[in-house]
Formats: sequence, structure tokens, C-alpha cells
Amino acid sequence: MPDYDLVVVGSGFAGSAAALSFLETAEKAGRSGRVALIESGKNGTWPGASRWAKPFLALDRDNKLLRGRAGRVEWSLSSLVEYWRRLEDETPNTVKFMEDHGVKLIHHDEEDAALDFEEQHFAYTVGGGKEIVDFFLSHVANHENADVLWDHEAVNLTLDKNGERVNGIVACKPDGALRSITADTVALACGGFEGNPEMLTQYLGEDAADLPVIARGLRYNRGAGIRMAMEVGAGTTGQLGMVHAELVDTRAERYHSAIWGQNYGIVVNEDSERFRDEGEDYIFGASESLAYETWRRQNQKSYFITDKTVMDRFEGSWVYETINQPPEQSDTIGGLAGKLGLDPARLEATVGEFNAACGPGGWDPVKMDGKKTSGITPPKSNWANPIAEAPFSGFPMTAHVSFTFGGLKVDADGRVLSANEAPIPGLFAAGEITGHFHHKHPPATSVLRASTFGRIIGANAAKRLPEKAESTV
Ligand SMILES: Cc1cc2nc3c(=O)[nH]c(=O)nc-3n(C[C@H](O)[C@H](O)[C@H](O)COP(=O)(O)OP(=O)(O)OC[C@H]3O[C@@H](n4cnc5c(N)ncnc54)[C@H](O)[C@@H]3O)c2cc1C
Repeated sequence: MPDYDLVVVGSGFAGSAAALSFLETAEKAGRSGRVALIESGKNGTWPGASRWAKPFLALDRDNKLLRGRAGRVEWSLSSLVEYWRRLEDETPNTVKFMEDHGVKLIHHDEEDAALDFEEQHFAYTVGGGKEIVDFFLSHVANHENADVLWDHEAVNLTLDKNGERVNGIVACKPDGALRSITADTVALACGGFEGNPEMLTQYLGEDAADLPVIARGLRYNRGAGIRMAMEVGAGTTGQLGMVHAELVDTRAERYHSAIWGQNYGIVVNEDSERFRDEGEDYIFGASESLAYETWRRQNQKSYFITDKTVMDRFEGSWVYETINQPPEQSDTIGGLAGKLGLDPARLEATVGEFNAACGPGGWDPVKMDGKKTSGITPPKSNWANPIAEAPFSGFPMTAHVSFTFGGLKVDADGRVLSANEAPIPGLFAAGEITGHFHHKHPPATSVLRASTFGRIIGANAAKRLPEKAESTV
């Protein structure tokens, strides 16, 4: 007999949803099953990504998954169609699962900024990611057949005596001793590898280890699950060399002070030169590309320069709300450059050149307005409005990693697949460990994806439990 029916590694959205849905599905079906949740963080700390997200959710008013704008990659990769259909079908049930366990959603119609979704709408949760995880785990704690093992780091997968099936894990206990835990089903929900400098360097190359994490909890995500699964033959999404970075205000004193909206102004490097088309994508996509470029080729320093027109438009909105300081401001571009530590003459020249290149037409921030530059490199494809109205504003920025893109290959049931796409018996995975999709990935779907596939894996593990024997008394 194995020690547990299900062992889940990781206590973020994916892991806590898996454990909870296992317990509740088993209970409803009148079956009994034991689950162990293994978490390398200590109880009371905020390990992982989930607890730090103030999540945007790509949901319409009926809690259906919003697709990205036309042409986004997820709908054109045929091997993923089944996976994404499952996510679409299951998203309303995931939202209900969240709400049934105490999560409160707020729906938001966006009137100021053009969103990356097919509708100008998204939802967010009242208490952020920490509250979602706390709700899930508090319900797990109500079940006596659940053990949450904090401060236990999974280090290896184990195989049955024939070497044919994953049958458990080895975990490193708080005192350093190893403990072997057997289970019918192992679900890996232990995130990406943002917190592992060696893996970052291996997959992303030089300087990757210098990329700061956007939230403290990410230091726990050291890629152990990806490594362990690859050791037993798991395939990957093939994108381990990509990270999602965000632009953070260098003056901020708290984690996750990301700022968006750079697509409405210009972004320059420490030589006051523009380096990328700021208007080629919508708000999240543009910000992501600029962040990646800031880290990769701009010495981790860039500056968002804009004017009164843009700042007035977004005053008080979520676009800049995560920073705890106002931008640097001046009535002249040269004065602003001085406050940002840039060369005034050079910044004046860059802004002057940009303003002169802005084409005709109206500026419309709620759609791709086609108002573009001509005759400059790099061009700006949309929202190319002259930076002309004082006061001028500037944010000094640097890039922080928020997640790694690559991960384990899984099917629509969360089964981990070999490189040849054969399911590895006994092994499942959900959440960030299963990767994201680089280049035009649909933003604001990660939380829903982690919770949905965690929920599916847990429920299916419960359905595999034997029925309770009839009492003969
Ligand atoms: C600041 C920030 C903002 C974000 N905003 C959004 C957003 O707006 N919308 C959206 O959809 N997504 C957002 N995301 C992404 C989203 O939060 C993550 O994709 C999601 O939380 C991943 O959940 P998870 O359960 O897979 O992983 P995590 O929450 O990272 O959980 C993994 C857990 O595994 C544990 N662990 C790791 N290794 C081991 C091991 N060897 N043994 C035991 N335990 C281990 C970790 O300690 C951690 O608790 C954001 C992420 C960040 C960091």
C-alpha cells in the first residue's frame, strides 16, 4: 500500500487546487483517499508566485476565458488546441470553484487603455493571490486525511520496482534527512526556475543570474520539478530559454512595482536612445518586450518618457498604481533628463526627432490607432503622439523576472508527456511548471490555467480511488 493516494508538490494555485479538489471529489463520491501536500517554504512565509500575484484574470462578464487579440499564438499551435479548449471549457467551473471557497471577483470594464484581450474587460480578485491560496489551504486543513508538509523540499521522483511507473517522491526534511513518500499519483505543481541562478544561466546564458526576481517567493522556485521529471523522461515545451520580465520602477521600495503603459510614450536607454518600437503591441505585450530588451541588451536600464496628455489620461488608474512614488517631472525635457541622470542634450534630440516623425491622425489609446512615425529607427507603429505638453514625466526602470516560459509537456488531463508525447505513468503536472507560451502568450491566463489543471488532476485522482467496501456489519 502506498503512503498516500496523491502526493502534490507545491502549494500555489495549482497545488492547493489539486489537493482540495481531490479531497472534495473523493468525499462527494463517498470514497476515502489520502493526500500529502509537500511545500519547501516554511508555514507562514509566502513561497512561490501565487501569493505575490495581484492577479488580472482574462475573464468576460460571464466568467468565460477571454482570448487574446486575433492572431495570438495559442490558437494556431495545433498540438495545443485540445489543451486550450479544455481550459476554455473549464474556466467558468474554476471561477465557481474559487467563489465557492470564498474568493470574491471584481469585474472591470477598461475605458482608458487598449487591452491585449478580445474585449475591453478583465476581472481581478479582492484579496490577491495570497487570499486565494489561503482560502484553498484552509479548506484542505478541514480534512483529516490531508497532510501539509511545510519546509519539505521534493528532490527526486521514485519509480516502482519494475522501473515502469512513478510511485512517489523523496523529500528533504527540515533537519536535512531524506524521507521517501510513496503515492499512486504524483502531481508536480512546484513552479518554474526563476530562483535558480544555475538553471537560468544554463538556459538563458550569461547575465541571466543577474535578473532580479519580482517577488521574494520566487526564490523557492528552483526548477526541481522540471529537473526531476526530465530525469524520468519528460519532454518540455522547448522554451526553457525564455523568461517573462516586467519593467519595475528602480526607486520603488516594495516588490512588484511594475509599471505599464510604455506603449503610450517612448522608452530610451542610458544613452537616451530609443531601442524598440513601443507601439507594436498592446499594453502587456509591449511592456514585456521592452522589459526583455532592457535586460538583454540595454544594461538593465531604461527610462519611460511621457507627457501631461498621457499622465492625465491614466491618473488614478491601475496602469501606474503599483508604484509608490510619482514619476520624476519637469517643465522641460532637459530638466527631466537631469532628474533621471540622463544627458539633457541627447534626450532633447531624441524627443525632438521622435516628435518630428509622428504622423497625422488622432491619438486613440483604446485601440491600435495606426498613428505611426515615419523616417526614424526604430519606428513607433501606434500611439505615436508628440511628447509636447508639459509637465514631462519620466520613470527610471529595470527588468525583473516574473516567470520562466519553458516547462513540462502535458496533455489536456495534466498527464506529463515524454518527448515522444507518451504519458508517463503516475506523473502529472499543473501550473507554471508546465510552461507558458513565449511571444504573444495570452496574458492573465496563468492563474486560471494553474487552478484549472490543478483542479482537473485532483478530481481525476479521486475518481481513480476504489469504492469503499460495503460494511458487512
Ligand atoms: C508578481 C507576479 C504577478 C503576476 N500577475 C499575474 C496576473 O496578473 N495574472 C496571471 O494570470 N498570472 C500572473 N502571474 C503568474 C501567476 O501568478 C503564476 O503563473 C502562478 O501563480 C503559478 O502558480 P503555481 O501554483 O504553478 O506556482 P507557484 O505559486 O510558484 O507555487 C509553486 C510552489 O512550489 C514550491 N516548491 C518549489 N520547488 C519545490 C520543491 N522542490 N519541493 C516542494 N515545494 C516546492 C514553491 O515554494 C511554491 O510554493 C504573476 C506572477 C507574479 C510573480
